Amino acid sequence: MAELDQENLHRDMTAWRHELHAHPEFGFEEKRTSAFVAQKLREFGLEVAEGVGGTGVVGTLTRGSGNRAIALRADMDALRIAEQGTMTYRSQTLGTMHACGHDGHTSMLLGAAKLLAGEGGFDGTVRFIFQPAEEWGRGALAMLNDGLLERFPFEEIFGLHNMPGLPVGHFETRAGPIMSAEDNFEIMLKGVGGHAARPHAGNETLVAACALVIALQTIVSRRLSPADIGVVSVTELITDGTRNALPGLARILGDARSFRPEVSAEIEKQMRRIAEGTAQAHNVSAEITYTREFVPLVNDATLVEEAFAAARSVLADNAVGVAAEPTTGSEDFARFLEHVPGCFVFLGNGDSAPLHNPSYDFNDEGLLHGARFHAAIARRRLPG
Ligand SMILES: [Zn+2]
Ligand SMILES: [Zn+2]
Repeated sequence: MAELDQENLHRDMTAWRHELHAHPEFGFEEKRTSAFVAQKLREFGLEVAEGVGGTGVVGTLTRGSGNRAIALRADMDALRIAEQGTMTYRSQTLGTMHACGHDGHTSMLLGAAKLLAGEGGFDGTVRFIFQPAEEWGRGALAMLNDGLLERFPFEEIFGLHNMPGLPVGHFETRAGPIMSAEDNFEIMLKGVGGHAARPHAGNETLVAACALVIALQTIVSRRLSPADIGVVSVTELITDGTRNALPGLARILGDARSFRPEVSAEIEKQMRRIAEGTAQAHNVSAEITYTREFVPLVNDATLVEEAFAAARSVLADNAVGVAAEPTTGSEDFARFLEHVPGCFVFLGNGDSAPLHNPSYDFNDEGLLHGARFHAAIARRRLPG
């Protein structure tokens, strides 16, 4: 089959990316986005299923007679962040923007679908998975719970994320844990509020809350092995106190990261012990809610080597490297890896604003690299 004109493909992908960027949609609200994706996939000649796990889309492309199947995945959702960029294609939806580059990821996977549909070069089935609600950590589960693996079976899965600070055209990944679990917690302290002039007459909660915020910092420094990675961050402290009045309620909210389920369990256990003990010392009560939002992302060692080989076939040899250390960011892609082996990789976004920043924008110069990596790994895993 004829080789697609790379310049034309890049122009198409840039136009798709700008269209998606101008119309960002929050998790599970990606109606316009998924309709756009489905229409493009049909144009390229793929079989398309919509509404998988809410607003998810699955495209299927089969060539030859091979019965192996692999999956390539992109995320489609945006964030509730007010964009500060002034480009012509800036968000037209107030307070919502593509601040994580999922517009770029979607466009890259569409580019890969067009490449593979036009040029072939593989034997078997490629599933193109466009998932909703990555930022919530709910979209992959929604697709899995909707029978993704039974209805559209595949044996392995690959995904990517752009990385600000890494030069465009550069590629990184590593074997084993590469992104962390994210747990959320909420500790509600309940006492008796009252007049600011008469603290002894009640059991106010603010001093207890402050002591607890400091005490929680000892979980990582004094309870985890120095060989383990963990983060405990208190992000909010809210009370019902006001001028002249001491609070009877204090809510402490936060976020914990880890790379092993045992570490996550230990953080929760120590948090409960410290919260209950601190509350008792201050004569107030503590209610603790601890939830697991994202699981650790663990790359398969063999497929990491395959991803490196695929990357070297489409990128400069010296631009393909091992990620020096795991990141404490989290990724919903990890849910797929609980069922099938796979590999998640990072592609350079150049000198852009950081992810989730109101000035962030995906770098269009990287679009073709992503599409070509996706196509290369599919061809490598399904040799024709
Ligand atoms: Zn994000
Ligand atoms: Zn993201």
